[in-house]
Amino acid sequence: MASCPVPSVSSVVAGARQVYRESFGASEPVVAVCAPGRVNLIGEHTDYNQGFVLPMALPLVTVMVGSPTPDRSVSIVTVAEGADEPRRVDFVLPNDSATPIAPGMPKWANYVKGVLQHYRAGPLPGFQAVLASSVPLGGGLSSSASLEVAVYTFLQQLCPDDGDAVSKALACQKAEHTHAGMPCGIMDQFISVLGKDGHALLIDCRSLEATLVPLTDQGLVILITNSNVRHSLTGSEYPSRRQQCEEAAATLGKSSLREATLEDLEGAQGQLDKETYRRARHVIEEIGRTERAAAALREGRYHEFGELMVDSHNSLRDHYEVSCPELDELVAAATEVEGVYGSRMTGGGFGGCTVTLLEAAAVDRAVQHIKERYSGTPTFYITIPSDGARALSL
Ligand code: ADP
Ligand code: MG
Repeated sequence: MASCPVPSVSSVVAGARQVYRESFGASEPVVAVCAPGRVNLIGEHTDYNQGFVLPMALPLVTVMVGSPTPDRSVSIVTVAEGADEPRRVDFVLPNDSATPIAPGMPKWANYVKGVLQHYRAGPLPGFQAVLASSVPLGGGLSSSASLEVAVYTFLQQLCPDDGDAVSKALACQKAEHTHAGMPCGIMDQFISVLGKDGHALLIDCRSLEATLVPLTDQGLVILITNSNVRHSLTGSEYPSRRQQCEEAAATLGKSSLREATLEDLEGAQGQLDKETYRRARHVIEEIGRTERAAAALREGRYHEFGELMVDSHNSLRDHYEVSCPELDELVAAATEVEGVYGSRMTGGGFGGCTVTLLEAAAVDRAVQHIKERYSGTPTFYITIPSDGARALSL
C-alpha cells in the first residue's frame, strides 16, 4: 500500500530507550509514557469559541522515557526530527513554586518548561528523560499537545497529582499559552488526554463535557494526507482570527460565538466589517455542522458526514481564509474518487494535513489518485481512533 506505515508505540519506545542509554551513562529509564497526536474530523476553529469539535486520538504518539534524579536537575534530550537545536537541555528546577521557569531557547523545550510550570502537584523531583515521536512536528496533527500531555503524564508517574483528566488538559493548554506563545483552544490537549480506542470524541468546549462516538466500522477508513507544506506567513494569523471572533461576539452582545445564532449575525451585519462577519459566519455554521456530523456518524450516515466535511472545508477556505492551494488541491483530488464520502483540511490551516472519510475498498484508488493529482509530494496515514495518554510498562 502506498501509505506511510504508522510505527508501533513499542518501536518508538525502543528508539527512545536506546538514546537514553547513550545519553545517560548506560543506565535504563524506569518510567515510560506516551500521549497521542490527533486528527480533527470536523469542528475547526470552534474550540476557542466555546463550540463543538469532533477529533479522535491517533496511533501516532509522543513517547517520554526517563528516571528521577536525586537532586532538582533536569536533563532532556529529544530525538524528534524537526525540533530546533540544541536537542539536549539541562537546567535546575527553582526551589520554590513561586519562581517561574522562564521560556527561552531552544523553542521545543518551552513546551516542557510550560508543563513543569503548570503541573498540579509538587514539589517535583529532578529527572533525566528522552523524547521521541511518531507524530510529524508542525504537520497539523498536534505534536505540540502530544508533547505537553506526554510530559504531564511522565510527571504524574514521578509525583502524582489528583488524577483529574480535564484539569490535566487545561494545565497543558496553559503551558502552550504561557511558554509557546500560542493562544490555542482546548481541543488538542483534551483529546490527547481523553481519547478512546474505537471512538471519536464530541467535545463541548463550553462545558468541557465529552461524548464518545463509536467509530469501528471495518468498512470505513480515516485517511490522513500530509501536504508536507507549512506556510509560515506572519505567525499572527491564529491570534488575529481569535481576536476577530471575540470582537464579533462582543458586537453581538454575546459572551462567545457559541451563544450566537445566524439570525443574530444577520441582524448585526451593518455593525461588522465584511471580514469579521465572514469569520463569525464560519464559526457559527461550523458549530452546527459539527453537532449534525456527530449524529450522522453515530447513525452510519456517512454520505451526510462527508458532505458536512466538504462544507466545512469550503467555509474554512472562503469565510475563515485559513486554507491554502495545496490543501484545496488535496481535497479536490480526494473528492473525485468513487467511494470517498468527504474530505477537508484539518488543524489550524495554511498547510499541514487533510482528513478524508472513505470506504475501505477505495483506499488504494484514493491514494493513487491523490498522488497523481497533487502538485507536491504527499504522505499518507491510514489511522484508527486510539487511546489517550497512558503509562507504559518497560
Ligand atoms: P503541530 O502541533 O501541528 O505539530 P506546532 O507548531 O503546534 O505544530 O508544534 C510543533 C512544535 O512542537 C515543534 O516545532 C517543536 O518545537 C515541538 N515539538 C513537538 N513534538 C516534539 C518532540 N517530540 N520533541 C521536541 N519538540 C517537539
Ligand atoms: Mg500544535
